[in-house]
Amino acid sequence: MALKTPEQYVDSLRQLNICAYVGGERVASVVDHPAIAPHINTVAKTYELAHQAEHREVMTAISHLSGERVHRYTHIFQNTDDLVKKIQMLRLLGQTTGTCFQRCVGLDALNALYATSFEIDQGEGTGYHKRFCDYLLRVQRDDLMLAGAMTDPKGHRAKKPSEQADPDQFVHVVERRPDGVVIRGAKLHNTGGINSHEILVLPGTGLAAGEKDYAIACAVPAGAPGVIFIFGRQSNDTRKLEGGCDIGNPRFGVVGGEAMVVFENVFVPNEHIFMNGETKYCAGLVTYFATWHRANYGGCKGGNADVLIGATAKDDPHPRHRPQRGGARQTDRDDPHERDDLCLGNRRRRHGLQAAVRLIHVRSDDVQHGQAEHHAQCLPDQPPGARSGGRVSRHHARSEGA
Ligand SMILES: Cc1cc2nc3c(=O)[nH]c(=O)nc-3n(C[C@H](O)[C@H](O)[C@H](O)COP(=O)(O)OP(=O)(O)OC[C@H]3O[C@@H](n4cnc5c(N)ncnc54)[C@H](O)[C@@H]3O)c2cc1C
Repeated sequence: MALKTPEQYVDSLRQLNICAYVGGERVASVVDHPAIAPHINTVAKTYELAHQAEHREVMTAISHLSGERVHRYTHIFQNTDDLVKKIQMLRLLGQTTGTCFQRCVGLDALNALYATSFEIDQGEGTGYHKRFCDYLLRVQRDDLMLAGAMTDPKGHRAKKPSEQADPDQFVHVVERRPDGVVIRGAKLHNTGGINSHEILVLPGTGLAAGEKDYAIACAVPAGAPGVIFIFGRQSNDTRKLEGGCDIGNPRFGVVGGEAMVVFENVFVPNEHIFMNGETKYCAGLVTYFATWHRANYGGCKGGNADVLIGATAKDDPHPRHRPQRGGARQTDRDDPHERDDLCLGNRRRRHGLQAAVRLIHVRSDDVQHGQAEHHAQCLPDQPPGARSGGRVSRHHARSEGA
């Protein structure tokens, strides 16, 4: 089963014994919790699109290890075409969901570990790369959703991991056994962690020779004993659930459902360890990860912007503002309506919101759809400058458009 269906993804999450807290309360089932479900819907889209013939080239790839077609989110980049297709995939998913679809951290972590495990073996005569490739084959075969956990709480920013008053400020090895290691600490802002199958734990900084215990890279099942997720807070959390104005993107969620993940003495067997004490390779691993990861935003943010900009243009009430044949646009800078629209006044935002809600497939019978429409209606017709009877200043135009 190289490509999971969305239903199989959700069912497979149900099988995991994920320990998660939202708002201080233990969650009975991450799949059914209203705060988490929208983020699961988004990841389900990544599985759904991979089965559609028109998106096959962008959403899938041929594994260089098995020769089988796999999800592009589990693929090791082989050439520039793979890098271009990754960005195309991210843009497509951004256009489809209008939010963060969470799987790119795991993808970039896979690629960083693939290269680094090879380099450690070359330099140190270890056997990490073969072990990692065996793991990768399983990830590809089971089409796993992976979270990438790199950012530690870090404590005092001017001090190194080994200098922290609290050693748990950075994930580290607390016990070494013949069959594996025990790790302890936490990672922050884990995108999609709470609805992933496994977590790839990576060091988040370069380390000195005496900091071997912090040089640990490994895979940990999301339901492993001692793994605890604490779902991230957002300013509009409760309003979102109460159904007022600020419901955000009701079907697919806002951002990626970040969580703090705590590793409370978690045992990791040898077959899931891809770096264990090789401090001099940590900076290279972080650089690989960051290099792959930075490129992503050219795809996903572009796709998200497509939804909002396209929706705004589509529902623009003024025909003269719509693009003309050949790309020209009629403008009249002396027209007060035109000036209002140039500063992205609320009238246009309202129409953009209404259209965006439709474009991201929120059905009209959805209760939350009604709430989103209500949100859009809440925005006054006039921009703040116009409300007081004055013209909108240049300064105001800049801050409104930022
Ligand atoms: C939406 C979101 C999703 C994320 N998803 C993930 C994820 O999936 N996986 C993951 O691992 N991480 C994730 N992160 C974490 C992200 O990578 C970190 O937030 C980021 O690396 C910054 O780290 P920090 O928050 O600890 O900030 P800091 O490192 O504390 O930085 C804060 C500010 O202080 C400055 N600063 C830091 N140290 C010093 C110093 N010694 N001297 C002077 N200035 C300093 C920095 O330049 C910065 O301006 C996510 C974050 C967000 C917001």
